[in-house]
Amino acid sequence: MSEADAFIRECAPWADSHRRFLSDLLAIPPLFQEPLSNHTTMRVGGPAEALVTVADIMELRTLMEYIETRRLRHFVLGKGGNTLFTSRGFCGIVIRLGRTFDACDIHENKVSAGGALSLPSLARQTAAQGLTGLEFACGIPGLVGGSLVGNAGTGSESLSDHLVFIDLLDRKNEIRRLTREEVGFSYRHSNLTAVSSVVLRAHFRLRQSHPQATRQRISSLTEYRGETQPLKFPSAGCIFKNPVPRKNGDSPRSAGALIEGAGMKGVTVGGAEVSRIHANFIVNRGHATSDDVQELIRQVHARVRERFGVSLELEVRIVEA
Ligand SMILES: Cc1cc2nc3c(=O)[nH]c(=O)nc-3n(C[C@H](O)[C@H](O)[C@H](O)COP(=O)(O)OP(=O)(O)OC[C@H]3O[C@@H](n4cnc5c(N)ncnc54)[C@H](O)[C@@H]3O)c2cc1C
Repeated sequence: MSEADAFIRECAPWADSHRRFLSDLLAIPPLFQEPLSNHTTMRVGGPAEALVTVADIMELRTLMEYIETRRLRHFVLGKGGNTLFTSRGFCGIVIRLGRTFDACDIHENKVSAGGALSLPSLARQTAAQGLTGLEFACGIPGLVGGSLVGNAGTGSESLSDHLVFIDLLDRKNEIRRLTREEVGFSYRHSNLTAVSSVVLRAHFRLRQSHPQATRQRISSLTEYRGETQPLKFPSAGCIFKNPVPRKNGDSPRSAGALIEGAGMKGVTVGGAEVSRIHANFIVNRGHATSDDVQELIRQVHARVRERFGVSLELEVRIVEA
């Protein structure tokens, strides 16, 4: 029996009553023992006990109430671009937001984006209206909810920069509105996981520019990513955060430069490889497992610490089974 099969057995008592509940509740049929490799950009990860897509807010609230009262493990998943499930999968309910959560409403310079809207779509739709501020998001393959949780961004811009407030479903199953200040954002971090269960919607205020200029910016950013990132293979983007600036104001070397300097470019474990194009990416060459990726992460971390005395902090989140 494989490790994943053994784990499914451990979860077995969970299954029957919860399966029935989920099948009765949800308009979109739930998936049981669904490989999470199908739902993450790195394309690794074992099975989820259940993977569900909630069609609307009513379903979501009913589901969350059920989960809370029975204290079931759950995980809200966006595009899976910043998430690494283990090879054992997830013994609980993985929740995705359905199509009613991916609307983008633009009124003058105010933008309201659903938690399941993709960042490239948000960037394109706002740019098409000549609104500037979110063009940087065109190449980040995440959804609005997950991207706010990790405050996705580039070297100089982050999703929280133009955010005004967020609507979320809190732990008491109530819809709450939090301002950007109340959420608390910093580099690739937010306090959202502490206060919320689900990000439903985000409201941004952008600046008016010209559609030609904003579209042009998207084209050049897309071209730049094509040249500097390994987009031909599945990945989770940058694995480590860049080290924070030193107290004397000096910019430290980027995580990618440290990894390259430690001689890790091109190093492989199983089907996982430290990208030869961008050393802070680990790519799945086609048959990588989550174990391969995690072992490679461990090796990279150890080599950088050994060589430079820097303990890199993970940007991707590893989710316990
Ligand atoms: C080729 C490539 C390039 C990338 N480039 C960048 C980049 O330039 N900058 C960058 O920051 N990242 C980058 N990434 C990483 C990743 O795409 C982003 O971090 C993305 O914003 C993550 O969003 P997601 O929807 O995939 O989040 P997920 O990985 O699905 O989730 C991340 C976290 O958010 C939580 N979550 C998800 N949705 C919700 C919700 N609705 N409510 C509450 N919690 C939720 C999850 O539980 C998890 O803790 C890149 C990835 C790839 C593959």
